[in-house]
Amino acid sequence: MISFENISKFYADGTVAVDRLSFSAPTGKITMLVGPSGCGKTTSLRMINRLIEPSSGSILLNGQPTAGMDLVKLRRKIGYVIQNAGLFPHKTVQDNIAVTALLNGATRTAARKKALELLELVGLSLSMAERYPWQLSGGQQQRVGVARALASDPEFMLMDEPFSAVDPVVREQLQDEFLRLQREIGKTIIMVTHDIDEAMKLGDQVAVFRPGGRLAQVASPVKLLNE
Ligand code: ADP
Ligand code: ADP
Repeated sequence: MISFENISKFYADGTVAVDRLSFSAPTGKITMLVGPSGCGKTTSLRMINRLIEPSSGSILLNGQPTAGMDLVKLRRKIGYVIQNAGLFPHKTVQDNIAVTALLNGATRTAARKKALELLELVGLSLSMAERYPWQLSGGQQQRVGVARALASDPEFMLMDEPFSAVDPVVREQLQDEFLRLQREIGKTIIMVTHDIDEAMKLGDQVAVFRPGGRLAQVASPVKLLNE
């Protein structure tokens, strides 16, 4: 479980990005952070793996505060997927995925083997392994991004608009496959989106942000629909 306890973030210029946020993302479930641009979703996400440090409050992973944790250990527990995949341009698909396993202490042979397994898990054919990122479509790059995040066997996954940069048809395909994948892997996931339909489709739980970095509501999609 990932818990926010009264978390606030003020940037150096005085911007209040997140204002006294408290909620929990339950184990094995998908929690969607949704709301208009600028309401603090990405800041909230990046405070979990401490790419951004909170100004006040605590974030707990299974009850343990992240504040005192070793950064390397913390980030090994947490897969991170961003909008344009962020793949290394000069590495092949297989090596892009293997890098995470290597950082996690796998041997080169084991890392490369794991990369191929993950390639299949995210629905890409093995013939993609030797390609470079520029030889893939946007949708395929996102799948590699997900595979790379999974290569350290993280307990948690943070995903920032992972399906936003692809066209609507591919997006829907990726969403469906993502739900299928989650049924297999059962990770504790927090995903950011500005798209309320996506939040309702993918979320076991939806946290609705409003401007000023405040939380309007946290509820299941069914409950939100009935209000
Ligand atoms: P969202 O992900 O919902 O679009 P963000 O978390 O990116 O929102 O941003 C929340 C607020 O913080 C916005 O007003 C944004 O302009 C501001 N912000 C984000 N990053 C910085 C920064 N590094 N310095 C100052 N303000 C920032
Ligand atoms: P998808 O619908 O899977 O996101 P696209 O429709 O964009 O894929 O691309 C269709 C096919 O074209 C894919 O098999 C992809 O590998 C290939 N492709 C796309 N861009 C390139 C490229 N720059 N170089 C080589 N092959 C590419």
